[in-house]
Parts: sequence; structure tokens; C-alpha cells
Amino acid sequence: MKKVIVVGGGVSGISVAYLIKKHTDYSVSLIEKDRIGGKALSIKTNGYLIETGPNGFLSNKKEIKRLIEESHFKDEVIQSNDYADRKFIFSSGKLWEIQSNPAKLLFSSFLSTKAKLKILKEPFVKPNSNDETVESFVKRRLGKEFLNKVIGPMVCGVFAGNPKVMSMESNFPRIKEIEMAYGSLIKGLISLMINKKTSASVTTGGFSSKLMSFKDGISSFLNHLSKDIKIIKDNIVDLKQEESRYTLIGKKSSYTTDIVIFAIPSYALKEILKNYGRGLEKVLNKIPYAPMSVVALGYKDKNLPDTINSFGYLFALKEIRDVIGVLFDSSVFNFRAENGKTLVRLMVGGQLAKDAPFKQNIIESAIKELQRSASIFKPFEFSFIKRHRKAIPVYTMEHKDVLEKINNFENKNRGIIITGNAFYGVGLNDCVKAAYQILERIKGGQ
Ligand SMILES: Cc1cc2nc3c(=O)[nH]c(=O)nc-3n(C[C@H](O)[C@H](O)[C@H](O)COP(=O)(O)OP(=O)(O)OC[C@H]3O[C@@H](n4cnc5c(N)ncnc54)[C@H](O)[C@@H]3O)c2cc1C
Repeated sequence: MKKVIVVGGGVSGISVAYLIKKHTDYSVSLIEKDRIGGKALSIKTNGYLIETGPNGFLSNKKEIKRLIEESHFKDEVIQSNDYADRKFIFSSGKLWEIQSNPAKLLFSSFLSTKAKLKILKEPFVKPNSNDETVESFVKRRLGKEFLNKVIGPMVCGVFAGNPKVMSMESNFPRIKEIEMAYGSLIKGLISLMINKKTSASVTTGGFSSKLMSFKDGISSFLNHLSKDIKIIKDNIVDLKQEESRYTLIGKKSSYTTDIVIFAIPSYALKEILKNYGRGLEKVLNKIPYAPMSVVALGYKDKNLPDTINSFGYLFALKEIRDVIGVLFDSSVFNFRAENGKTLVRLMVGGQLAKDAPFKQNIIESAIKELQRSASIFKPFEFSFIKRHRKAIPVYTMEHKDVLEKINNFENKNRGIIITGNAFYGVGLNDCVKAAYQILERIKGGQ
């Protein structure tokens, strides 16, 4: 029987191992140096369920829903409460409730008249077929204020990146496609909405779709998927080729296989390929990672400001200190805090506040931020910190070139497949989508 070894037991590795085991005759094993889950880890403690990494996925994401269905885990899925539809942005010293309908932004006082006029002129801005940074794209089409108050907060809060370095094509290919197909985002959206091919979520980054998760957290799904997979605990440090097979050298043992799927961060892959690499190890350096810490604060007291009855809030770029997002998890999902308690999670850091995640007094920064932006002064009863030195990969203007080189490398080194959120999308669904694509490649002889 031919062998597949998957290296890395995060969402990418577990999904692909599960699918190959289920749909092919290959014998599958997964090598993980630490624990199953990677960045995903749900911790139940003191009456709280804390996600120290990913928290959920949007209801319009097809592949993860397909995987949940085919692995019979649908009954464990939960949908966010109605409070999750309330979202805020902290700007000019106060929290502004942001409507899911982008047109409504034009009628609120959140944006200045000058910014609104710039938006109204968007249909007349010439499209640009070249890739450009997110900052350049948004400034060109929608103006500086829209970047500072709307797109910037979403990009920093969701991708932890800096709009100045992030590539538009690599991060938001659909938006760039709309610009090219319709000549304008506004014209494109109207036309797509008339044809019912999409909803307003295209521009609001999914503000109108529901957030989904699992009753017992993301880890419960990954544990479920991995329960029948052969898992070997080892740290892979090198790779060798012997005729048409590959040998992975681990700290504990060596493993020979027909196909190896690397589902690890780019910086970890670079280390493994340092001898074998054929130039790819240098290319992998071109993917920077944003650091981030997750600070969870638990409150016994229900008597907190009304703002907590919402999804949470992001920050206008000019307002970012250490925290880039505040999430009211116990309002978003049931089962995140015991009855009567409140769980708040703060995302600290990202590329725009890159020293913040490692500050000794990170809890103090979190409290100060909650006081400044949400008037939460009550004492918390519980706190938890998870520091991710390399939290989220950032797709810069060099990302397309990286993917091209990976593709060439895979073509020249049949039997090696590279995946993971460093390459084909940073979110959970992207990892699962890549797993389905690899399954098709394997079924088709790669
Ligand atoms: C704080 C935070 C919040 C997030 N929130 C969301 C969210 O709400 N929704 C969403 O969709 N996405 C979110 N994400 C992104 C999401 O976490 C990632 O898309 C996903 O977890 C990446 O999975 P992965 O398997 O590609 O990589 P990882 O999770 O990094 O897994 C890689 C695995 O490889 C192992 N490994 C590394 N080197 C070796 C080696 N040499 N040998 C053996 N094993 C090795 C590691 O130990 C690890 O287990 C968030 C990320 C962070 C950090």
C-alpha cells in the first residue's frame, strides 16, 4: 500500500489527512511535534470556554461546512446569537455602531462629508490592472478616511496585517476581480446584487453572514477529525530523497513515504528544507508573520455597559494602541461563559502594534483599553493570556511570486505537496478548501 505522511497537525494537516484516509487507499499518518490543533486550542476553565486561536467561521464558507457534514459533526455546530450582528468601530474617541448595509454608511455621521463625496465618485475612478497594496487600492478608490475608519480596522483586526504592505490581489482577489470586471466596486456590487449572485458581504468582509462555531470549541472538531488518524509525535528537521521516495528525518526517528504533505508554517518549512530546498527555503523567508496575543478577561458581574451585548469592536487606524480588536464572546455564542458571567477576548498586537503582544503588563494594557474605549471599569474575576509569537502570515506584494515558486518546486519534486495558512488563505475555511484541492490532486495522481 502506498504511503502519505502529513507533517503538521493544525487545521490544514488534520483536514487533509482525514480526507485522504477517507477517500483513497493510501495509508496515512500525521507527524506533529507538539499537540493536535496548531494555532487552534479551546480551553475550558473557571466556567469559561476560551479560544486561544480561531473562534469560528462564517456561514457562507462552503468547504468547512462540507467537511463538518461529511464527518458527521453537524450536531455540534452553533450559530452566533443576534447580538453578534451589532458591531462597532472605535473612532474619534467613541464607539460607532456600524450597519451591515454599506449604503447606510453614507447616511450616518460616522464619515465626513468629504469622505462621502469621495465614495460617490468611486464609479468614475479608473481601474488598475496591476496588483497594489491594500492601502493604495482603498485610498485610490474610496479615500483615506474610508481606509482609516472602515477597511483599515477590518484588515488589522481580521488579518493582523498592515494595509501598507498587504497585497490586494493576494488577500482580496474577489474585490480586485470586481474592479476589473465592472470598472467600479459600487457598480459591480449593484450589478451582482441585482443578479443575486452575492450579498453586501463582499465589501464588508462578511459583516452580513453569520459566525459559526462548535459547542465545545474549535478543538472539539479537530479532535473529532483526528480520532482515527495515526498520529506520530516527532519534530521533523530534515528531508532526503531516495529514488522516488522521500525520507523525513525527525528528532526521534526517520519515516519513508511516497507522498509527503507539509502543512506547517513557512518558517518551519524553511528549516526542514535547509539541505534539500533547491532554493525554495530562501523564498519562504518572504512571508512575514504578525505577532498577536489573546487576552481573555472573565467578569462575574453582569452589570457592564450595553456595548457588551454585541460582537465587539475594532479600531480606526489612528486609534490603535496595543489592542486591535475586542470580542464579547459570551454575547456572541452560548456555552462560552457559565450563566451570568461575561467573557471578553482582546486581540493584542498585529503588525501595527508588534511589540504589544510581549509586554509584561499586557493585562494592564487590556484593562486600560476597555476603560478608554468601552467604559468597562468593573473588576474582572479571571484572566488568561496566550502569546503567539508568529500568529498570522501576512501576504505581501511578493506573495504571488512565492506561490509561483512553490508551484514550480512541486512540479520538479513530485510527491511533495505544500499547504498551510501561510500560502492559500489565512483562515480556517481556506485551510479546509486547500485540503479538498489536495485530495483531488492525489486522486488524479497529484
Ligand atoms: C489569535 C488567532 C485568532 C484566529 N481567529 C480565526 C478565526 O476566528 N477564524 C478563522 O477562520 N481563522 C482564524 N485564525 C487563523 C487560523 O487559526 C488558521 O487559519 C489555522 O489555525 C492555521 O492552521 P494550519 O494548520 O495551517 O497551521 P498551524 O495551526 O500553525 O499548524 C501547524 C502545525 O504544524 C506543527 N509543526 C510545525 N513544525 C513542525 C515540524 N517541524 N514537525 C512536526 N510538526 C510541526 C505545529 O506544531 C502545528 O501544530 C486565527 C489565528 C490566530 C493566531
